[in-house]
Amino acid sequence: MSAEPSLERYVRQIRYARWGDEGQRALAASAALVCGCGALGSMTANTLVRAGVGRVRIVDRDFVEISNLQRQVLFDEDDVARQLPKAVAAAEKLRRINSQVRVEAVVADVDHGNLEELCRDVQVIVDGTDNFEIRFLINDVSIKHGIPWVYGGCLGAEGQTMTILPGETACLRCLMHDCPPPGTLPTCDTAGILAPIVGLIASIEAMEALKILSGHRSSVSRGLTVIDLWQNQSRQINLGSLREQVDCPCCKRREFSWLSGKQGSRSAVLCGRNAVQLSPPAGAVSLDDLAAKLQGIGPLTRNPFLLRLTVEDFELTVFADGRAIIGGTSEVAVARSVYAKYIGH
Ligand SMILES: [Zn+2]
Repeated sequence: MSAEPSLERYVRQIRYARWGDEGQRALAASAALVCGCGALGSMTANTLVRAGVGRVRIVDRDFVEISNLQRQVLFDEDDVARQLPKAVAAAEKLRRINSQVRVEAVVADVDHGNLEELCRDVQVIVDGTDNFEIRFLINDVSIKHGIPWVYGGCLGAEGQTMTILPGETACLRCLMHDCPPPGTLPTCDTAGILAPIVGLIASIEAMEALKILSGHRSSVSRGLTVIDLWQNQSRQINLGSLREQVDCPCCKRREFSWLSGKQGSRSAVLCGRNAVQLSPPAGAVSLDDLAAKLQGIGPLTRNPFLLRLTVEDFELTVFADGRAIIGGTSEVAVARSVYAKYIGH
């Protein structure tokens, strides 16, 4: 091996001509935020740390559960038994994999109050979240501060990903004007998820992040990639002219309504009830559709005004106006997590 000792572990990627010593040095001086450390987040964090990104900050609000292990590659049964927060369990493992990388674990619920601080001094944000509300928030921060981000999402055997370079490419709001109403999209907990699609989308996200951090922005994808591994289909949707065509409130008019807190769910801890009320931004839900989606998940009751699901240790009560009360916790982060899992954004 001719590489100097500290670079020896990277010798195979340095040999890739387009990468080289220069790419490796740029990477070592860079930092990434991995926002959400479930399936996509743990796989992308794994790749970024092994590749030698200088600093990797991981933020997540959840704890490791046994049903995560099928696809969330950084966790094991021991983490479940220890009830470790995902950010902490991931960081522990990643530091053992590559002690040269500074891995920071942040156990927090990402919201408009803390995301700007979490993005301080990073050059890319990688999406490992499970809901659009946080993605719209990331999109606002990205455009406001000029930090590229890589969107990724998976469900069933299908996934999609897109890279946003502020000022250069279309942003998420050019593509989707508003957050989908609650309950209209399936979630991993209602529709299931197969691990191979996560591996594929996470690999694309990681590759895009590595291109950005190593100084190869010109090689970044300019489209939306959609892949269905069950149907054996993949599509690349060219978004080249979208930014010019759309009067985007975010990247054209620079209105950061999610980051300012004007849009986004409001939450309140219901004192003395061990419950949290969440008021999602998008309003009314169809209780019929929601009831159909949640069939078989757990005991379900409903009347014309509300629907109630008992699942895990929680009682979710969803009202027709989209409001939900999550019983069984007095922590907003836990309530949001339960809401995202079963109702979705
Ligand atoms: Zn835009």
